[in-house]
Amino acid sequence: MARLAAALPPGAVLTSPADRAAFETDWRRLHAHPALCVVQPGSTADVAAAVRICAEAAVGVVPQGGNTGLVAGAVPAEGAPQVVLTLRRMAAVRALDTVGDSVTVEAGATLQSVQELAAGAGRLFPLSLAAEGTAQIGGLVATNAGGLQVLAYGSMRALVLGLEVVLPDGSIWEGLRPLRKDNTGFDLKQLFIGAEGLLGIVTAACLRLFPAVTQRVTALAGVPTVESALRLFQAARDRAGTALTMCEFVSGEAMRLVARRVPGARPPFDAPAYVLLELSSPAADHPLRHAAETVLEEALAGGLALDAVVAQSERERLQLLRLREEISDAELADGGAVKHDIAVPIALIPETVAAVEALVRRRFPGYRLNVFGHLGDGNLHVNVRPPEGCSVAAIGPLYQDITCAVEDLAMARGGSFSAEHGIGQMRIASLGRYKSAVDLALMSALKRALDPHNILNPGKLLPAGQGRDARGGR
Ligand SMILES: Cc1cc2nc3c(=O)[nH]c(=O)nc-3n(C[C@H](O)[C@H](O)[C@H](O)COP(=O)(O)OP(=O)(O)OC[C@H]3O[C@@H](n4cnc5c(N)ncnc54)[C@H](O)[C@@H]3O)c2cc1C
Repeated sequence: MARLAAALPPGAVLTSPADRAAFETDWRRLHAHPALCVVQPGSTADVAAAVRICAEAAVGVVPQGGNTGLVAGAVPAEGAPQVVLTLRRMAAVRALDTVGDSVTVEAGATLQSVQELAAGAGRLFPLSLAAEGTAQIGGLVATNAGGLQVLAYGSMRALVLGLEVVLPDGSIWEGLRPLRKDNTGFDLKQLFIGAEGLLGIVTAACLRLFPAVTQRVTALAGVPTVESALRLFQAARDRAGTALTMCEFVSGEAMRLVARRVPGARPPFDAPAYVLLELSSPAADHPLRHAAETVLEEALAGGLALDAVVAQSERERLQLLRLREEISDAELADGGAVKHDIAVPIALIPETVAAVEALVRRRFPGYRLNVFGHLGDGNLHVNVRPPEGCSVAAIGPLYQDITCAVEDLAMARGGSFSAEHGIGQMRIASLGRYKSAVDLALMSALKRALDPHNILNPGKLLPAGQGRDARGGR
């Protein structure tokens, strides 16, 4: 710690338990483990110096962005001495290019600040998720974050043009280029996207921008069944094509949770389930409103929808979005849940939801389901809430039983057990359960090649024994 304090600017090393506490506890408040200290570098050179010092002292480094990750990847794990390295002091804009449509920012910039920067320049940065005021570009890259507009723009992997990365030995990989095409060997930036900080610390990113949206139509439909939600999505996609930029599913339970827990948030009507749709376009003359209204009228006439409302102002639009975005916070305030982030082939969504409902009724009586997610991506958050008055932390081994049962359902349908949140500490057992021996061997080989002494984010992503220090250290 003395070496870190000497190498970094004054105030960059936090050692007192009170200063460290927020960095040691994950967003879901399920994981907390002490760090030796918290390091707050102000530049890429500082990050490199800190990593070099930690590597020499055989101390693990946990990169942390906004700490909004949902799998406890950004907080220390048990086992090894570790420091948390927060990127929050590195939020500068390095370049904004409206001809090449790119922006280069440091890793600690929040998603919202990048969205605002793009909007101020008449452009769009389309990544959007409920934690955008806090989540940082480095964390979003490291988790390959998805969110509300993946349907139209893809997840973070599709939005990154270049990266600057500090490697586990403290060297700096300079890949911060705005090029759209560069087939000169392996595309190394891909190694670090979705790698959850195990292979390098992202210090800056060059991101794609898009033409600004000039019109948006946002609507909420109440639907009788999950099957009708899926058919409404298909109808909207068929009519609007690429102008359908968001299609979210919200179960009736999720909506009632928000209405109960979030002051001022109420759905305009009651329904068994809801679909939140958004059509948007950079073209001012695109007949978006007509398309949205036609889809909804036909859905109402055909019984696919029971009720529907189209936002008439930006204020109304934000109110509708809020009903979806507040679900995670409302759930946390209501005692939390055994959370899942599954993906299945889109056509199987109704059958999957029915199977999950049957499973919970049969094996976990008294538990309550809270299902919502990115319908257009086949990605559902299937959250299982303990009976009234029982906290998630108190359910013991049942937690793992529930997780196995839900993930088995997704995997049996050719799905994924973690569609967008990653592995962190909380999905390591699942990774070991579902990935093939070849998958695990490849991932371990990559980790050992780049980080042979397991300095970066120890205890995350890889099952115990995989990618560990060959000398038996961590
Ligand atoms: C209310 C809410 C809604 C959410 N909605 C979505 C959603 O719709 N879609 C979605 O994909 N996610 C969602 N998330 C999850 C979370 O916001 C994302 O995973 C986000 O990308 C995390 O960013 P962060 O800066 O908070 O990263 P952190 O939580 O700080 O870190 C996440 C992981 O990245 C690593 N990391 C952080 N910074 C760096 C860096 N600079 N270099 C290398 N590794 C780093 C950490 O070690 C950790 O493993 C949601 C979370 C909340 C709380």
